[in-house]
Amino acid sequence: MVVTVDGPAGSGKSSASRLLARELGFAFLDTGALYRAIALAAQRAGMQDAGEEELDAWLEEVPLEAKSREGCFLVLLDGQDVEPFIRNEVISQLASRLSALAPVRGHLMGLQRAAGQAGDLVAEGRDMGTVVFPRAEAKFFLTASENERARRRWRELAQRGQPAELDEVLADLRLRDRRDSQRSLSPLRPAEDAVVLDTTGHGLPEVVEILAQAVRGRQWVLAQKANETL
Ligand code: C5P
Repeated sequence: MVVTVDGPAGSGKSSASRLLARELGFAFLDTGALYRAIALAAQRAGMQDAGEEELDAWLEEVPLEAKSREGCFLVLLDGQDVEPFIRNEVISQLASRLSALAPVRGHLMGLQRAAGQAGDLVAEGRDMGTVVFPRAEAKFFLTASENERARRRWRELAQRGQPAELDEVLADLRLRDRRDSQRSLSPLRPAEDAVVLDTTGHGLPEVVEILAQAVRGRQWVLAQKANETL
């Protein structure tokens, strides 16, 4: 079974999806980490401003993998876990810019779908329910007010030892949201059959519980249908 969780930055989708996967015993795939890893590779190779054709050829050589380890897909670049290098504002903005380009999205499609074929999965991102897994059995779209999302992101950065001004965090978030939702390829939007959940004012355990209950309900319906066809 594939469960998709999409939403804008700071909507709480990453933390909620990770916990949801653990609760359900599903694998977890953070697709934003894949886009961030490409941004990191582009930064290292000086390809930030390359044209689409040049990017397309270069991407073939980028040694990027999503490797399943203890229920999580780790994102590796040249065999190295990229996590310590991708959670900063420069990479966030570069990932958002590059993710609007067809070669980048096309290149990551196979990696993401392969994760969905490996077993039960919670996949989170921007286009999981609309483009990558349009036939997913359960789809969610998480939102929260702009101010709350900026505060969450600001707290997260402080916890990572990267303190920033709240105003700047809000401006960066707006810029990324606008780019992610206005691009022509796979724009950020809820799938027609997604459950939309506004997490403003709701704690993480509460959100995870709502998602887990909805997935269990869906599993029950699917099991009933399977029994009927026996
Ligand atoms: O989710 P996260 O903030 O880590 O994603 C970083 C950027 O990667 C997003 O701003 C978005 O531009 C891009 N992204 C995407 N499609 C996804 C996941 C992330 O375009 N499925």
